[in-house]
Amino acid sequence: MEVNIREELMLLVDLQDIDDQLSELALDRGDLPIEVERLKGDIDKLNKSLDDLRTELEEIRNEVVHLRGVTEEADSKLEKYKQQLYSVKTTREYDAITTETDAVKTTISEGEERVLELLARENAIISEIGAKETESTEIGETFEAKNAELKTKLGETEQEELELRHSRETTVMRIKKPIYAHYERIRIAKDGRGIARVMGGACGGCFAMVPPQRQVEIRHAADIVLCETCGRILVE
Ligand SMILES: [Zn+2]
Repeated sequence: MEVNIREELMLLVDLQDIDDQLSELALDRGDLPIEVERLKGDIDKLNKSLDDLRTELEEIRNEVVHLRGVTEEADSKLEKYKQQLYSVKTTREYDAITTETDAVKTTISEGEERVLELLARENAIISEIGAKETESTEIGETFEAKNAELKTKLGETEQEELELRHSRETTVMRIKKPIYAHYERIRIAKDGRGIARVMGGACGGCFAMVPPQRQVEIRHAADIVLCETCGRILVE
């Protein structure tokens, strides 16, 4: 495979220029896309926890209704035992009714205690839901504002970005795959710069010295030369 080194290097310079412009567009948008994403995540989290709280509230209310039913039933049993006490004839009967009465009283007092606990939790949940709903509304407003701002910014630069992406694609298609792959790996790892110019005998990316023999190779486009320190593709 014949590789025209000079042409490859020129294409890489073009590509780096396109990538620099794309980076500038991204920089112009700043943290907005990340912020919008983060706000959306916060809202999702809040809504999830509101759902959980509402479910718990419903469970508590169902349990209270159930316990009140149990207590009512126990109350009427208690009333029945009281009536039966008037007509007991033996000590054994009396003892039996007393035992039943005690058991029912325990059921009632335990039920009442549990209902009090549940009502306290219900109140806590209601105020927690209120606070979270307020928070959710506030974050929702911030989200809407930031999202609108982002959309405006994206709209302003959309066409420019589209054109840059298109010329990037056509440039990349003309560069040999392994050379592009190296450029891309270094660009991503090294602050957006996959190539570096040789300046005063040093790599313009990391300022490491470039051996004279290598400099000659670069000047004559005899080979693809990488900086031994940062790995950037060196150009004249
Ligand atoms: Zn370097």
